[in-house]
This record gives sequence, C-alpha cells and structure tokens, in this order.
Amino acid sequence: ETVDIITLINDIKTQYYSDRKDGRELNLFCPSEHKVVSTNVSFLNHIVCNLVNNAFKYSPNAENPSLSLIFNQDNYQIVVQDFGIGIPEADQQHLFELFFRANNVFYIEGTGLGLTITKEFTKKLGGTISFESKEGVGTTFTLQFPYGG
Ligand code: ATP
Ligand code: MG
Repeated sequence: ETVDIITLINDIKTQYYSDRKDGRELNLFCPSEHKVVSTNVSFLNHIVCNLVNNAFKYSPNAENPSLSLIFNQDNYQIVVQDFGIGIPEADQQHLFELFFRANNVFYIEGTGLGLTITKEFTKKLGGTISFESKEGVGTTFTLQFPYGG
C-alpha cells in the first residue's frame, strides 16, 4: 500500500505520544516536501513505535527524544534519537538477539522482544536498521527503507 510518510509519522505522534503522563513529547523533524512511499503501514507502525517506546523508556528524566525523517535520492531514513542511559559497549553486539537485555536496564521493565521483532519487520520491508550508542549519553537508531517498499 502507498502512504504519505510524513502524515503517517505525524499520526503516530498524535495517536500514541501526545498525552504522556510525564509531560514529555516526541520532537519531530520532517522535510517540508511530502513523499508517498510504498510500505506495509501496520509493520511500519510497529517498527517506529518499538523504537520510540524504547527511546522514552530508556531515557527517564532526560530531554525529549526525537524522530527525524530524511529523504535521500534512493531511500528514506527514520532516525530515532534519545539522550538516555545508552547501551554498554560490551552489550551492543547482542542487541538484536531474542530476549537480550543490557546489564544497565535491570530496574526498567521489558522482555527483550521488541528489537528482534523490529529487525524482522524491517527486513520484510526491504529495509535496514543500525544504531549508535554511548552509555550515559544516549542512543540513535537509524532505519533505511526504499521508497518502493
Ligand atoms: P520489550 O520486548 O518490552 O520491548 P525491551 O525494551 O527490554 O522489552 P528490546 O526493545 O528488544 O526489549 O530492547 C532490547 C534491549 O536493548 C533493552 O532491554 C535495552 O537493554 C536495550 N535498548 C534498546 N533500546 C534502547 C535505548 N533507546 N536506550 C538504551 N538501551 C536500549
Ligand atoms: Mg523495547
């Protein structure tokens, strides 16, 4: 199916992140031009929500996380950034393993499933996922998808 990707991102923010108990919000950075992409809306919703949920969950009391949409020549990127607890370097290689949780999140609830699913869904859409993180500083996940789905 085809969808205006900026509208989809805005809808996700309104639907899921507009009324948080802690008063924080998701900062959106989108291009001014609109683009229609071919994707599976349900998968893409899951992917984005998993990453944004993590960004809030693993940055308690920090400044707002952000989502940036970037249009390249042949693909588009969705970048989710937070300024939270980060991922210890030794744990980073295991991040997409089923049930894996880093050793600095024992006090925060979770099952270690979200990222495994996120990666599978991303692959199904012909995309890639990568991340950069520094413990105590923050984490940035980058998704890259073809416009054609
Ligand atoms: P759930 O299945 O409910 O999402 P989870 O959040 O523990 O549980 P994942 O989303 O798969 O599981 O994430 C796996 C682990 O990766 C987390 O437990 C955490 O250690 C680390 N992690 C993921 N995102 C972040 C982030 N934005 N900042 C810091 N650590 C993160
Ligand atoms: Mg999670």
